[in-house]
Amino acid sequence: MGDAKVTEGTECSWPARFGTWAERAPDAKALCRTVREVPWRLRPPTVQDVGSVIKEAYANRTSLWPVSRGCNWGYGSHLPVRNGSVILDLSKLDAIGDLDRASLSVRIEPGVTQASLYQYLSKNAPDLAFNVTGAGLETSVLGNALERGIGYNGEKDRDLYALEVLLPDGTSFAPVAGLNHKARPSPAGLATDFLFFQSNFGVVVGARIRLRIRQQAEDAIVIQGPLDSVILTLKRAYEQQLITNPTHVAEPGRAHRLGYGLLRTLWQRSPTPEEVSLCFPEQNSYSGIVAIYGRRKVVNAAWREMKRLSEKGVSLSRGNTRMLALAATWLGRIGASNKATRMRALRPILGLTLGEPSDAGLASLDGFEGGNPDHADCGAIYGNAVSSLGPENAKRACAIVRNQWKDSAFTWIFVDNRCMITVYTLHFSDAESGAAHEANRSIVRDLRAAGFPQYRLGVDTVQAAGAEGLVRRIKNAFDPLGLIAPGHYES
Ligand SMILES: Cc1cc2nc3c(=O)[nH]c(=O)nc-3n(C[C@H](O)[C@H](O)[C@H](O)COP(=O)(O)OP(=O)(O)OC[C@H]3O[C@@H](n4cnc5c(N)ncnc54)[C@H](O)[C@@H]3O)c2cc1C
Repeated sequence: MGDAKVTEGTECSWPARFGTWAERAPDAKALCRTVREVPWRLRPPTVQDVGSVIKEAYANRTSLWPVSRGCNWGYGSHLPVRNGSVILDLSKLDAIGDLDRASLSVRIEPGVTQASLYQYLSKNAPDLAFNVTGAGLETSVLGNALERGIGYNGEKDRDLYALEVLLPDGTSFAPVAGLNHKARPSPAGLATDFLFFQSNFGVVVGARIRLRIRQQAEDAIVIQGPLDSVILTLKRAYEQQLITNPTHVAEPGRAHRLGYGLLRTLWQRSPTPEEVSLCFPEQNSYSGIVAIYGRRKVVNAAWREMKRLSEKGVSLSRGNTRMLALAATWLGRIGASNKATRMRALRPILGLTLGEPSDAGLASLDGFEGGNPDHADCGAIYGNAVSSLGPENAKRACAIVRNQWKDSAFTWIFVDNRCMITVYTLHFSDAESGAAHEANRSIVRDLRAAGFPQYRLGVDTVQAAGAEGLVRRIKNAFDPLGLIAPGHYES
């Protein structure tokens, strides 16, 4: 399962021209266990080389599948929608800079990871931070934003602008003096950046990402309780603007998996079920985490108000990484070792909300012992469903998924006071891969029929009908030969 095959007949001059960075029949194992025939994976080291690859693809009518780091785990990783596409891996383009303090933005290339941007800012601008996702240290900041990923400070596509794009006909475009300004994403007239998010019109080789100024108080609020009460409390808190960042709420099953993985990471061995229960006893409640930033007095006041409006049965706590470390030391001293361990294990999760990327979120994957999630012992398909905020929507979406696949886990992302996204994971063994993919097709169909469309699609999920006429017309104008990412967001 998952082994690459060479597509016969896809012979062009890749090895002759690009020998040192052309890998034939690359490792094609993906976390979601999708199988594709991938003839080549090309890792061009410069933008000029990317241009040469596109020219070669044009001359040979070979389709390309651009990825930034190819860590789109659960949605297809680095694999293309169609067999035979050559993977254009942009991970070697990894420059960061210039940092522009006036517009609070920095230029990044596709290969810039969450880890490398964090290190860059720590060294050059420790008072600035970026919007971190839970997807791990080695994922691409730019690739995630192009897929409209969601971070702990909001939707990532809103952070990315000033795109530098190569088109299949050999032309390119980028921000122009007199038209664009670093302080504003859109110029006067058509804002063309939006054409390159979740589309297949060109290859993005650079862009600017927005940064934020770190605040006097940066806390994470943890909310726990029954689903209905958690959702109603959060809804009120958003409506009254006590919180503005997204909240990630995990169901008990996901929290249990995460607790197991966090302890394994901390101890470098697998914990027993009893140890997980002792350190993470809240296994019947839903747990949410949200970042809150500002002046200390303002954050304190928002915290007090949040406690006042919270539903019965909900428990709220707050902290930051410094408070957590102090609490762990103190708890250790008074002999509350399970609570102290819990604090230490949770630290990297709290760090995510405060702009510190980590691999902590990957700990919830079954059969993952660290390293590359694509090589985890168990497969996982990720999917999602958009709705408005409300316990009924959460339960309906959850029931649709569970009805088709029992071994599933859920997180809800409250993006703001309007939008809630149900993120589900189907866990399965390699032997169940076919059945899991079949189940996911039914899940997507049923979710759409129930009024819960997706915000993002995996490589095995076909786009819903509706906008294909317009999309096709733009595609024909930009890429009439269909060389860039065929099938990506196409119905
Ligand atoms: C445990 C776990 C937790 C996760 N948590 C999160 C999370 O918190 N938030 C989140 O958003 N996702 C999350 N994910 C999903 C996924 O892993 C991330 O979105 C990840 O950032 C995507 O990989 P990447 O950044 O390397 O992007 P890539 O895989 O490089 O890019 C994604 C897609 O964008 C397109 N693309 C990328 N670069 C270019 C380019 N330069 N030009 C043209 N098209 C391009 C391609 O179609 C590509 O397939 C999670 C997954 C797992 C398994």
